[in-house]
Amino acid sequence: MFVNGYRCFSCDTTQPTDFGHYTCPKCGGNLDVTYDYHQMERETGRERMIHAGRPDIFRYAPLLPVESLRLTSPLRVGMTPLYAAERLGLSIGLRHVLLKDDGLNPSASFKDRAGALALVIAREAGSEVIAAASTGNAGSSMAYLAASVGMPCVIFVPETAPAAKITQLLVFGARVLAVRGSYDDAYGLCRKVCEQRGWFNRNTGYNPFTREGKKTCSYEICEHLGWHTPDRIVVPTGDGNIISGIWKGLRDLLAVGLINRLPKVDCAQSIASSAISQTIWSLRRLNLQPKAIKWSDVKVNPVRAATLADSISVDEPSDGIAAVRAVIESGGEAVAVTDEEILAAIPELARMAGVFAEPAAAATWACLKKMVAEQMVSPDERIVCLITGNGLKDIANARKVAGEPTVIDPTVEAADAALEISGL
Ligand SMILES: *Cc1c(COP(=O)(O)O)cnc(C)c1O
Ligand SMILES: [Zn+2]
Repeated sequence: MFVNGYRCFSCDTTQPTDFGHYTCPKCGGNLDVTYDYHQMERETGRERMIHAGRPDIFRYAPLLPVESLRLTSPLRVGMTPLYAAERLGLSIGLRHVLLKDDGLNPSASFKDRAGALALVIAREAGSEVIAAASTGNAGSSMAYLAASVGMPCVIFVPETAPAAKITQLLVFGARVLAVRGSYDDAYGLCRKVCEQRGWFNRNTGYNPFTREGKKTCSYEICEHLGWHTPDRIVVPTGDGNIISGIWKGLRDLLAVGLINRLPKVDCAQSIASSAISQTIWSLRRLNLQPKAIKWSDVKVNPVRAATLADSISVDEPSDGIAAVRAVIESGGEAVAVTDEEILAAIPELARMAGVFAEPAAAATWACLKKMVAEQMVSPDERIVCLITGNGLKDIANARKVAGEPTVIDPTVEAADAALEISGL
């Protein structure tokens, strides 16, 4: 393992490898896992950095904080498809739009990347119970993975989480605590209970390893493109852990020489849950060079989140500073759209690219459209939209924009009449 310590995203204080806590003892900030890239390159060699025969995220094992691959789950996480969505892109004048369909992970969301790595680390640490707070997907992912190795799992969700996600939790045998309150309430409660009981806490952002799992998506995108970097990656953002993971993965690849330039990462949010974007906009108004920003002085002010895109509905982002840094350091955009724009994006993705996205994931396409309308992107850029969760996770919202079937009598005449109206 090539981990050589931890560094605080806010105050830059570093910790040694054997530091046994989740967050910075000095300021409470989130920790970045750091690596000795030189030793990694020397001992592994660039060619052997990837275990090409392994069809999941652990093909990038030298770049991950794991001792051995003995304790991985049998589920295949990652290696999701990257589709060229030509018709979709051309509909707004873009020639190279790609969709990374992470809804095809075992539990149907991107969260499996974090869960798979958290599971290995919890087992290496000898933890007996793994717990997490979740808007739905992080928990359902943990439930699948824990079930695959028979590990007890406790999930705190807001009572209002979509039915499909709660059903996933229950079917896979997690202990589900449906908290009367918001995601933020569930998050705080999970932390307290884990501290008292000594459980492994997979809470997003707070646990430094969730970002390390999520960064594998960047490895896959670049590997898929023959180690060429796209120009942009558009990331749906709530807590900010996916976007900070995407940025981390790209910087890893640059550090070991597998890519030679970095793309921009763009933060896609709902206007009704835009704490991270608002922080980025106000920082940009100061016109500072990224290097001149003193991150320990930056605060991400909480909002009152009220979007139907439940997976990105967050009052106080749990990985806010790391996310803001990702966008500012990469030179990306922060874009926020309405719930109507998010819903409209669902059938567009489906009908023009054949991909079914849950509302949070559809926000990437809604935000990319807005970026084009505001001339933030040029037609030749190669742009990857992360589709982070499958549309079957939330059919109630998809139904609002899907249209209605035509109900008919069981006769050919009735079918003919109905088809004539629809012009076929
Ligand atoms: C968790 C999640 C997000 C947002 O990730 P953050 O790390 O909270 O920013 C986006 N889309 C889906 C489907 C998710 O489950
Ligand atoms: Zn700190």
